[in-house]
Amino acid sequence: MPELPEVETVRRGLSESVLGAQIESARIRHSRVIRRHDAGRQDFMNCVTGTEISNIHRRGKFLWLELAFDDQPDFALVAHLGMSGQFRLSTKQRVVDRHARATFRLADGRTLVFRDQRTFGWLLAVDWDGVEVPEPVRHIALDPFDPAYRRDQVALAMARSNSGIKRLLLSQHLVSGVGNIYADEALWRAGIHPDTSGRVLALEGCTQVLEEATSVMTAALEAGGTSFDPLYVSVNGESGWFDRSLDAYGREGLPCRRCGQAIVREKFTNRSSHRCPSCQPPPFEHEAFQVRDEVAQ
Ligand SMILES: [Zn+2]
Repeated sequence: MPELPEVETVRRGLSESVLGAQIESARIRHSRVIRRHDAGRQDFMNCVTGTEISNIHRRGKFLWLELAFDDQPDFALVAHLGMSGQFRLSTKQRVVDRHARATFRLADGRTLVFRDQRTFGWLLAVDWDGVEVPEPVRHIALDPFDPAYRRDQVALAMARSNSGIKRLLLSQHLVSGVGNIYADEALWRAGIHPDTSGRVLALEGCTQVLEEATSVMTAALEAGGTSFDPLYVSVNGESGWFDRSLDAYGREGLPCRRCGQAIVREKFTNRSSHRCPSCQPPPFEHEAFQVRDEVAQ
C-alpha cells in the first residue's frame, strides 16, 4: 500500500510531467472511483473539463491537483491511491487498460490515466480557492515532511495517550503519512513493541519513534526518487517498486538484522505487525524493566 514516500514520489512525478497541462475531457470508466463525489459523474466531468493543472499538492497519503480556470484556482481534484492506485501517462489515443478507472485527455495529446486494480482508491473534485487545504483533506494531520509539522507537539500528544504507539502512528489524526509498513520499520529501528502505550514511552520514547519514522520515510523517498521514470508515473507498494530495504515488514521468519532472532508476524487489528521478539519485547516486560531500574536506583 502506498504510504507517504510513494505518494510524494507520485506527486513529484506528476509535477514534472503534467504541470500546465490542460484537461480537454475526462472519462470515468468505473463508477466506484468517484464514489465520494456525491454530485455524480456528469458533475465530476464538468468540474475538471477545460481546467489547467496548475499545481500538485500532498498531505500524508492524500494528493490534490490544483485545477485552474483563467489562471485562478477553481477546483481541487483530490486523489487517494488506496491500496494500488497509480497515475500513468499515455501517449496513445486509445488507452487499453482494464484497470483504468478514470482517464483525462490532455490538450497536448497525452492521456493521464488513474488505474487501480483493487479499487480502494478514489477521486473527488471540490470547489477550491487555493488557500485552505481542501475540505476532504482537512481532517488529516500534518505529515513529517510539511514545513509546519511540529514534532515536539505530536510527541507530547502521543505521550499523553494510553493507546498503543502503532495505533497512534497509524491514526492520521496526530501525524499523517505513516502506514503499516513504515510504522513497523520505525518501531523496529526504535526497538519498541507496537502495543507500548504513548504514556509508557513518555515524551522521549515518542520523540524517538517519530524521528525514526521520518528518517525511514526519507530514505525510502530517496530510493524512490532515483528509480523514477517520468513517463511512467506509477506506484505499486506491493511489488516493491521502490526496492525498499526493509528491516521488519515482510521479513517473517528471517533473522533480525540487529540480533539474529527470527522476525515474527502478529495480528494487528485487521492487518499484521512485524517485529523482533528480542529487540522489541512486549510492553509489560518493558515496563517491568523500567520499574526494576527505578528500584535499583
Ligand atoms: Zn532483534
